[in-house]
Amino acid sequence: MRRVYAPVTATAIIRAVTTQTSKEIHLARRPRGEPEAVDFALVDVAVADPADGEVVVRNTFISVDPYMRGRMNDVASYLPPFAIGAAMDGGAVGEVVTSRSPDLGVGDTVLHQQGWREFAVGLAHRFRRVDATAAPVSAYLGALGMPGLTAWVGLTEIAELRDGDTVFISGAAGAVGGTAGQIAKLRGAARVIGSAGTDEKVAYLRDELHFDAAFNYHDGPVHRQLRDAAPDGINVYFDNVGGDHLEAALGSLRTNGRVALCGAIAQYNATDPQPGPRNLELVIGKRLRLRGFIILDHLNSVDLFVAEVAPRIADGTIRSRETIVPGIENAPAAFIGLLRGDNIGKMLVEV
Ligand code: NDP
Repeated sequence: MRRVYAPVTATAIIRAVTTQTSKEIHLARRPRGEPEAVDFALVDVAVADPADGEVVVRNTFISVDPYMRGRMNDVASYLPPFAIGAAMDGGAVGEVVTSRSPDLGVGDTVLHQQGWREFAVGLAHRFRRVDATAAPVSAYLGALGMPGLTAWVGLTEIAELRDGDTVFISGAAGAVGGTAGQIAKLRGAARVIGSAGTDEKVAYLRDELHFDAAFNYHDGPVHRQLRDAAPDGINVYFDNVGGDHLEAALGSLRTNGRVALCGAIAQYNATDPQPGPRNLELVIGKRLRLRGFIILDHLNSVDLFVAEVAPRIADGTIRSRETIVPGIENAPAAFIGLLRGDNIGKMLVEV
């Protein structure tokens, strides 16, 4: 991977020799199409001394997530764009190393939003203490964290999964999709079908996550492979991909079918507007319900999600692999790899 070092100011250098320094990843320029290493910069900064009420956290794992691609564009969305020349942010877990707050102590493990850097500094209320003995800390960025909650909300609240449903999940070998498939089975789905981009991922879905059927979407048209896997059609589609997957699902959905529109990763690097499904009119005749959602609007479901899913993760019923890339300097490569499908399960960077 090529690394790009942004210029470090004289002030930063003087502070750096007197205090702890932190490596951070800045957005160096806005990617056009697929992100490249030169779009990012690895920068050394001085760690600020914490003020009253603040803590310093040494990050152990940072999360790279598909939604971050959208924040690299200079467009208005549900989250502001990343600024050029500044550290990006995102989910991270770490350990408190200095505390000037009564609410958090040195050694506490915390979940927070100052990822893409080695050290995070901020007011204690921005860091949520998590139980490092209940689960591996990385799980709070995966099955027990935002992706797991997204899977649970998408299935239960958005798609209103019912007993006996046949469910199709795209992007099924990733963090959200893998958890969604297993929750669907536990909640009484009759048949769960997943698609993914490699044969290894297909084997993972069938053998480790116990999907009833899975296919590699590179092996042939999605609509044909889906029809073979679900000859009687599907009731629910959990869409992580968009594009040909959504079009195929519309074709296979039964009357009154339900779709949770979670993501459209096939289009995140597109430089031009992408056409919608050519068979959209099926929504009318089949009385389909398509509903998009953003997980930030459903954070009040966390307690219900944790109550149902955490014990299943602890007893091994719900499994999740992680793909861990070591070193903060490799975070851009991990992110680029995530968009290309290098990960099985949750993609993480170990700092
Ligand atoms: P994943 O762990 O699933 O990683 C992304 C995966 O997408 C890759 O591994 C790759 O797997 C697949 N992919 C990449 N390009 C394509 C393509 N052209 N066609 C099909 N698959 C592709 O990521 P997450 O689990 O974190 O996220 C999954 C989806 O959920 C994303 O769309 C994301 O934006 C969305 N999301 C939405 C949220 C919301 O609030 N609505 C919250 C969180 C996530 P493969 O090898 O199979 O191609």
